[in-house]
Amino acid sequence: MSGPVNDPPPGDPAARPLLGAATLPCGADVDLLLEQVADGRGADRDAHQQRCVHCQAALSEFTALWAPVTELTAAPIPAPPGLAAAVMSQIRFLVRDIWYTLEITESGTIRIAARIVAALARDCARMIPGVRVALGRSTQGKIAALAEKATFGHRHPHAAVGVLGRTAVVDLAVAVTYDDPAHQVARDIQRQVIATLRDQVGLQSVKVNVTVDDILGDDEI
Ligand SMILES: [Zn+2]
Repeated sequence: MSGPVNDPPPGDPAARPLLGAATLPCGADVDLLLEQVADGRGADRDAHQQRCVHCQAALSEFTALWAPVTELTAAPIPAPPGLAAAVMSQIRFLVRDIWYTLEITESGTIRIAARIVAALARDCARMIPGVRVALGRSTQGKIAALAEKATFGHRHPHAAVGVLGRTAVVDLAVAVTYDDPAHQVARDIQRQVIATLRDQVGLQSVKVNVTVDDILGDDEI
């Protein structure tokens, strides 16, 4: 498919944004996120960033990648001139395909689709005692509406998982049983999902936001 989206940005190449106007699935500008991290404001998250798994994953990954630059900038010895450029090129490579994780190994690169990360997280959450239903993101609606949304959620800009490099942020909405304390079940979900994604996907940094949307008796669903 061709169109204006694939055309190079017009005008002076030097005036183009550093990362060639790359955006996250939510539409956030990667350059602005990187600027935020480089200015030391990575933890200052606006209302959108506090809700958005894509922005959260990007800010975490960029903060980790940018850490050596930050450290050397604070040190009395100035950062070597090539360092920031090297990190930039690493980030440019990372954002080339924002629907996949990326691990760079000596034998080549490994990419795992975001939808696989989302599916593993949901499957893992469903296995935890006390969990009746686990879906990709909370809504106000009934379980049926949740299920419908979650089915396509991972292909949608408002996906329940944000991945970048070896970082993932996952939103899960669950219904738990009456017999188990909801916060305890939520903790178990966080622990198990983090362990699973580290083991099976090789992720380094995983955040799991759990919303308990419903408490079900034995006769429901
Ligand atoms: Zn976002």
